[in-house]
Amino acid sequence: GEIPSSGLVSDYLAELHFRISHLSGGAVASYIPELAKADPKLCGIAIATIDGKTYSAGDADVEFTIQSVSKPFVYGYALERHGREAILQRVGVEPTGEAFNSIVLDEVHNRPFNPMVNAGAIAIAETIKGATPAERAQNMLTLFSRLAGRRLSIDEQVYRSELETGHRNRAIAYMMLNSGMIRRAPEDILDVYFRQCAVRVTARDLAVMAATLANDGVNPLSGERVIATEYVSDILTVMNTCGMYNYAGQWSYDVGIPAKSGVAGSILAVIPGQLGIAVFSPPIDQHGNSVRGVAACKEIAQDFRLNIFRSH
Ligand code: GLN
Repeated sequence: GEIPSSGLVSDYLAELHFRISHLSGGAVASYIPELAKADPKLCGIAIATIDGKTYSAGDADVEFTIQSVSKPFVYGYALERHGREAILQRVGVEPTGEAFNSIVLDEVHNRPFNPMVNAGAIAIAETIKGATPAERAQNMLTLFSRLAGRRLSIDEQVYRSELETGHRNRAIAYMMLNSGMIRRAPEDILDVYFRQCAVRVTARDLAVMAATLANDGVNPLSGERVIATEYVSDILTVMNTCGMYNYAGQWSYDVGIPAKSGVAGSILAVIPGQLGIAVFSPPIDQHGNSVRGVAACKEIAQDFRLNIFRSH
C-alpha cells in the first residue's frame, strides 16, 4: 500500500486519534518509580515519510523517555562499529518467548538471545565508544540527536530513578560478566544503558527515527546518513521477530510491520521504503506494549495496507 495525499492523512490521523485516545485498558509502568508519574491520558500519533513530510495528531510533541525503543538504534551503531560477526558472537537474533527483562541467556552460545531484550541491549551498550562514562553518554546522545534531526537531552530524574532501582538489570549485567559476555565493569555499562533509556523524545521524533530506517539509514529531514545501509535490514529483521517482546509473533501476524516498543508507552514502526509511524500513550499491557499504540498501529496498517507481507 501507499499513503494518500497530505490533507487526507492529517484528517485521517485526527479522526484515528479521537477514537484511540478514548480506549481504556493497560496501566502506566510503575517498576521505574519516576515512570509511574506519567499522565495516562496522553496520546500522540505521528507519521514521517521518506520524502520528509511529517503528520501528527494529539500529543505528538510531548516529551517522554525513549526506553527500549532505543535498542534497535544502538544495535545498528554496534554493527557499524564492530561488524556483524563480532556482534553476533555477543548477542544472537532469536526471540526469547519471555518477558523483556528475563534473566536468561542462550546456553548453547552463552550469549543473550537478541538485542531487543534488556540482556542483549546491555551487552550492546558496552560497544558505545568513549574513554569515560561522560564521553560514552555524549556519543550515545549524539547518535539519537542525529536520528531525530534535533538536539535531544536526557531526563535526569528517570535516569536516576532507574539507576537507584534497576537491580534486575544489574543482576543481568553481573550474570553476563560472569559468563564473559561483557568485560567492563557492569556499573559503567549500566550507566550508559540507563541514560540511553532516559533520552527524551516526542512521537514526532520517533516517527523521524523510524523514517530514517525506512529510508535506508538517511534521516529524511536532515538528509544526513546516520546508519550504514547494509545494517538497516539487520535492525528491521530483529525488530520484526523480537521488537514487541513475547507479543512479537502475534504482532507480526496481525500487523506485519517491524516495530519496537518501550515501557514509557511508545511504539515505533517502520515500513521500508515508505514511512515511519510512532505512537505514544503511557498505559501498557502485560507484555509492556502501549495499549493505544498497538491499536493505532493495527488500524493504520490495515487502512493504508501497509502489511509488508501482503502484496496488495
Ligand atoms: N529502561 C527499561 C528497563 O531496562 C527499558 C525496558 C523497556 O522499555 N521495555 O527495564
